[in-house]
Amino acid sequence: VAELGTPDRSVVTTCAYCGVGCSFKAELNGDELVRMVPWKHGKANRGHSCVKGRFAYGYASHPDRILKPMIRARIEDPWREVDWDEALGFAAARLTAIRQQHGRKALGVITSSRCTNEETFLVQKLTRAVFLNNNTDTCARVCHSPTGYGLGKTFGTSAGTQDFDSVEQVDVALVIGANPTDGHPVFASRLKKRLRQGAKLIVIDPRRIDLVKSAHVSAAHHLPLTPGTNVAVISALAHVIVTEALYDEAFIRERCDWDEFIAFADFVSDKRHAPESTALLTGVNAQALREAARLYATGGNAAIYYGLGVTEHSQGSTTVMALANLAMMTGNIGRAGVGVNPLRGQNNVQGSCDMGSFPHELPGYRHVKGPEVREIFEKAWRVPIDPEPGLRIPNMLDAAVEGTFKALYCQGEDILQSDPDTRHVAAGLKAMDCVIVHDLFLNETANYAHVFLPGSSFLEKNGTFTNAERRINRVRKVMAPKNGYEDWEVTQMLANAMGAGWAYTDPGQIMAEIGATTPSFAGVTYDRLDELGSIQWPCNADHPEGTPLMHVDGFVRGKGRFIVTEYVATDERTGPRFPLLLTTGRILSQYNVGAQTRRTENVVWHDQDVLELHPHDAENRGLNDGDWVRLASRTGETTLRVRVTDRVSPGVVYTTFHHPDTQANVVTTDFSDWATNCPEYKVTAVQVSPSNGP
Ligand code: SF4
Repeated sequence: VAELGTPDRSVVTTCAYCGVGCSFKAELNGDELVRMVPWKHGKANRGHSCVKGRFAYGYASHPDRILKPMIRARIEDPWREVDWDEALGFAAARLTAIRQQHGRKALGVITSSRCTNEETFLVQKLTRAVFLNNNTDTCARVCHSPTGYGLGKTFGTSAGTQDFDSVEQVDVALVIGANPTDGHPVFASRLKKRLRQGAKLIVIDPRRIDLVKSAHVSAAHHLPLTPGTNVAVISALAHVIVTEALYDEAFIRERCDWDEFIAFADFVSDKRHAPESTALLTGVNAQALREAARLYATGGNAAIYYGLGVTEHSQGSTTVMALANLAMMTGNIGRAGVGVNPLRGQNNVQGSCDMGSFPHELPGYRHVKGPEVREIFEKAWRVPIDPEPGLRIPNMLDAAVEGTFKALYCQGEDILQSDPDTRHVAAGLKAMDCVIVHDLFLNETANYAHVFLPGSSFLEKNGTFTNAERRINRVRKVMAPKNGYEDWEVTQMLANAMGAGWAYTDPGQIMAEIGATTPSFAGVTYDRLDELGSIQWPCNADHPEGTPLMHVDGFVRGKGRFIVTEYVATDERTGPRFPLLLTTGRILSQYNVGAQTRRTENVVWHDQDVLELHPHDAENRGLNDGDWVRLASRTGETTLRVRVTDRVSPGVVYTTFHHPDTQANVVTTDFSDWATNCPEYKVTAVQVSPSNGP
């Protein structure tokens, strides 16, 4: 601060990292950003923050940023710096030629949960109103798409049910497949505070995550399951609740479909779901499981918090529905301190899904097959909307390899580094005739691009992000875009280069269009956001100030649905060649593939990905802490250092995926969730052996 001078003004904006959505005051001296100060009036963070939001913003001015557009005829050619007109003209000409030669369905987009709601809305509008198809997908495909599916089916709304404030009324927190201390630090602090006040904790996770330690809970409430057995564990919990008659009959009769509950109860009460029957499969002690079930059902307000350890499985959607069953059968839904609460990994996962980024849904989770929904957008956009769902990300890549998908506009997402089966992603990208990367940095995907459009950082744009509790927060421009344009302007220029004729002059106009076409956003305007600070959707005539708690008087879909959730083992199996199970996650100071955090001071805290290995497995392989190891699976191999620790169980290994040198996704499986294609990042059969290093 001394070097940069005393701040003379400030702008309130929103952190661009995780789904907690902390508000910050960006303090400036003239045009220089001096520091980011957690904003005490921010409703998601109330003056708190973690190291990423507070300190890891230096990437916005990192010299690696590309500030001028670039083009090249072939990916083998060197990049050529050009002005915006030439770059957009080149991109539009290629897209138009491909559409003429191969048809409108040969084009598609991938947008990012890092972008604002307004940017995301425009990208899916580009696909539907200019490309004239529904080939739009989002990086939520690879994280929380099962949340959208599972909560939509059971409750009728693809979103978390509670606000963060209601953690203060939680008596029992069931944390499954999430590590809030590293992934959602500000929420973790609030949860830990509640635990210190006496709330009980159940952790279902293959690792002994920090929360278990910090809460000083008994080991009985940590259920260290074998990766891939979530559904079997939840069925065992439900078995205990049904067979010991711990369910809330009055709630179920009033709020849910009773016949469906009876069918579900018949299913889970079968002996094969008893904790004693599943202990060998799940690796969870039967008595610990019984105690956890009793605590969840009878311990007062019980809230479920979950993360990607639930969704990134071949049964990700099934697991989300199983958790919804658990909440409904115990009456833990529709009031403060309970509910089913996905902890969203990225800042705007919720928003990117809300804005119609999925190939089967228009904004507001309305299926493209619905004529009355298409009519709303056809009137607003004056083009016919394709009634056929488009391609998901993996289908786009498959179709590219097969030769029917030819052009991709990829905004704010490095699919080569973050999607599974890196070699297949590369093959798909290489097969396309036009790949447009719109990003801050020349990322790995850009190796296969023909057009690079410089992106703007969160400090350089206006818009909104929607956090994990459906809270729409304003993102305000702190400084002028270093590349000249905000991302929504670039999308508009590309659309207009293809003849669209859009004329937005401010993202507030885009929000007005969102509100006019999407009932849950009908009452959201920038003026209302300025007045209220933030708004949780739905916000409309019935809920003019927003909706902190969902499903209070009834489920959005009417009666809550019990869906029978049968455990099906993943096709990814251990065996003599690959006897260990790999699961992945992230650490506090880094973020996803590290494109931003590796370009900040935070890098000094974590300069490489390491592999956690249990002491027994290390001894069997003659490995010591810090040794180099080869990590191999049937899809690929990588080299990294080993950390010998009993945080993981015997037979389980764990690593992060923050560094491109490691490329953990070279190893991960190509299996995915049956309903949504969300990749099964959390279960890969691997072998670990000594190595001399990379
Ligand atoms: Fe940003 Fe999440 Fe940290 Fe808050 S908790 S400062 S939103 S990374």
